[in-house]
Amino acid sequence: MTFDAATKMKFLYALRSKGVTDAAVLTAMEKVDRADYVKGTFADRAYEDMPLPIACGQTISQPSVVGLMTQALQVSPRDKVLEIGTGSGYQAAILSKLARRVYTVDRYRRLVHAARAVFEAHDITNITTFTADGSHGFAEQAPFDRILLTAAAEDPPGPLLAQLRVGGIMVLPVGQSDAVQSLIRVKRLETGYDYDELRAVRFVPLLEGLGQE
Ligand code: SAH
Repeated sequence: MTFDAATKMKFLYALRSKGVTDAAVLTAMEKVDRADYVKGTFADRAYEDMPLPIACGQTISQPSVVGLMTQALQVSPRDKVLEIGTGSGYQAAILSKLARRVYTVDRYRRLVHAARAVFEAHDITNITTFTADGSHGFAEQAPFDRILLTAAAEDPPGPLLAQLRVGGIMVLPVGQSDAVQSLIRVKRLETGYDYDELRAVRFVPLLEGLGQE
């Protein structure tokens, strides 16, 4: 299967029916071929609206969830965005179509290298990848206009809250890893933070330290 016009139409229709209605987000998702980020046996299911396994026991998120999270993040073209949990690189590639620059981090070196290779192959030049425990954020490049976590934390990590610009937005799943989690949006105000709960989701947990691969 290829990401041809008919496949795209079906893919975008499925996204819209799940509530992804932001035109810029849909355009970005039309530009990024999910099959490039799903390798091996599952590649032929790339255009189905379901999470799929990737290397290191991780998953590429469900496209409609990627769309809803991206939409909730309200990215604008001048934004500097930090993503925690590169995984396959699919979410970062979509962000790269909407933002000025994307920094993306994963605790598995192997995933970071694979994602970087896909970005290079597709001439995506506004993504910086690195391997680290992303719960510490990336102080050298802070503050960020937008921060997106694609792994579930029990609470929003303090360093990430601190690295969000005043007026900035962070979207993340919170809750225990083996239970239903909530997707929340945090806005940094002049004084303090404003929290709002968006929907139930299920993500892999945000883990401490580096992965072994
Ligand atoms: N955004 C990805 C899906 C990510 S799955 C995509 O589009 O494919 C969640 C990812 O978060 C996994 O790859 C996992 O290794 C990573 N992760 C978990 N805890 C982390 C941490 N503390 N720092 C960085 N990455 C982490």
